[in-house]
Amino acid sequence: MKIWTISKILNWAVTEFKKNSISSPKQNAETLIAHTLNIKRLDIYLLLDKEISGTQLEAIMNIVSRRNIHEPLQYILGETEFYGYKIKVNKNVLIPRPETELLVEKIIHDEKNINSILDIGTGSGAIAITLAKNLNSVLIEATDIENEALIIAKQNATFNCVDINFHKSDIFSDVLGTYDLIISNPPYISQKDYDQLPIEIKDFEPKSALQADDNGLTFYDKILQKAKEHLTESGKIYFEIGYDQAKMITQIAKKYGFSDIQVFKDLNSFDRIMRII
Ligand code: GLN
Repeated sequence: MKIWTISKILNWAVTEFKKNSISSPKQNAETLIAHTLNIKRLDIYLLLDKEISGTQLEAIMNIVSRRNIHEPLQYILGETEFYGYKIKVNKNVLIPRPETELLVEKIIHDEKNINSILDIGTGSGAIAITLAKNLNSVLIEATDIENEALIIAKQNATFNCVDINFHKSDIFSDVLGTYDLIISNPPYISQKDYDQLPIEIKDFEPKSALQADDNGLTFYDKILQKAKEHLTESGKIYFEIGYDQAKMITQIAKKYGFSDIQVFKDLNSFDRIMRII
């Protein structure tokens, strides 16, 4: 059998990624090789002449073939970073996005004096966990309709050493209490926009976490319709929203009797976060 060094496998992986139009081929190759060999990315360059074993070679080739069909790096690695915390992900949960870090950032900055939070559609648990880490003595309840998501969310909470009450609920179906904050980053992509998404998202991330009926608005409507029953007197709602949805969600919120409505932009100057009181 021919000898494979780290240098050789790195060159091979980069060539493969280029052939398959994977963006940032070098960075992808380095990350996946370092992950498989359990070394730091930069250590690759100190170990270029080191031989790899047959098992390592097979593992790297397997991972490269997954990436070649555009499986997201985060699913292959089984984890991502969100607001500086390690969050496990698999195909049952959406990969937390940088836009959602802004939602969390805003809440941490503006809502220091709250006692209770409900996170609807928690997915990987990224929002709930980050808030638990950064807001002191807040009771956090987080729900999802998918059992598989709740399993990952619980693992993430344990791994990050936070106490969150996770349970299954279809929006408010199994929620009893009232909360100072109701937060949600629900599925909000219309079917039309969903059809245009890159393969990397469309073929790998759960459609149920991304796409929503009624032009992507159905979950905002369902949440706002019942939210008052589950908010404390000075309670507020925070949503992540699609770039073109602020006006329509404002109308829905007014329909259900909310009047203090604010929209905040993301780093690309798109409407991204709403606060509804
Ligand atoms: N709340 C989770 C997140 O922000 C999941 C969102 C979703 O699946 N729509 O990452």
